[in-house]
Amino acid sequence: MDCFYVITGTMDFLSHISFPKFEKASVWMVGAGPGDPKLLTLYAYHALQHADVIVHDALVDSAILSLAAKTATLEPMGKRGGKASAKQGDITQRLIELAQQGLKVLRLKGGDPFVFGRGAEEALPILDKNINVRIVPGISAGIAGSAYAGVPVSDGQSNQVISFVTGHDTSGDVPAVNWQALAQSSPVIVFYMPMKHIAKIQSELLKAGRVPSEPVCAVSRATTPHQLVCETTLANCVEDLNKANIKAPALLIIGPTVEFRQQLAGCFS
Ligand code: SAH
Repeated sequence: MDCFYVITGTMDFLSHISFPKFEKASVWMVGAGPGDPKLLTLYAYHALQHADVIVHDALVDSAILSLAAKTATLEPMGKRGGKASAKQGDITQRLIELAQQGLKVLRLKGGDPFVFGRGAEEALPILDKNINVRIVPGISAGIAGSAYAGVPVSDGQSNQVISFVTGHDTSGDVPAVNWQALAQSSPVIVFYMPMKHIAKIQSELLKAGRVPSEPVCAVSRATTPHQLVCETTLANCVEDLNKANIKAPALLIIGPTVEFRQQLAGCFS
């Protein structure tokens, strides 16, 4: 029988864990995980409860933001795959401004701040202003999103290497990847932001020797109620993802572990 626990009021057990003080005039850069609020860390929950202002990525789910203290101000800001969004410099500038006003500033980012999240790029100019920054890791979409689709990123028999690759660089171009080396050394490859250059990703991997029948799985809005999964092959992925209406934010997983989803997909619903 399914059993659900609803969290009401404060989580008393948090008082047994010692968290650092969220100082005024400081910035906490915190990973919010891939979407499902249950995948939030206790650290992130603590930060949500103590921040004065929360500057959050477009990708951060409203169910997570609803855990903020009632007194906190929410400021949406950040990247959303392909659409116009705040410039990186403007985000950093805003964080500096808010900290200089003496506020406890929570910069809430999707997944993990350092996994294709430009966390360091955002933090360094803040540190340059002598403002304290604390980085709190989160569960990255490449790991939890693949799992929720029923795909383990590694398996003892299948792969000793996993590669996490961005589908485009910071200017939106095809990433500078050594496709030959990637294709030959990494049985499992997980692409973040794969949709813009999917045809190029497919053709480069085929050119580098990956076989057309290789299993491929795409998952969009993973871990949320809108999660959509499409299982296909390298040869058919461009057409099938289009037909399945897979759109950003999405992950593309290529490799033998995709076949596990037949047995494992039900373990995450
Ligand atoms: N720092 C984030 C990644 C930021 S880049 C992390 O660690 O997860 C943004 C990309 O992450 C999206 O374009 C998509 O490729 C991936 N992503 C983030 N959340 C996702 C989700 N819920 N489902 C599928 N992909 C997701």
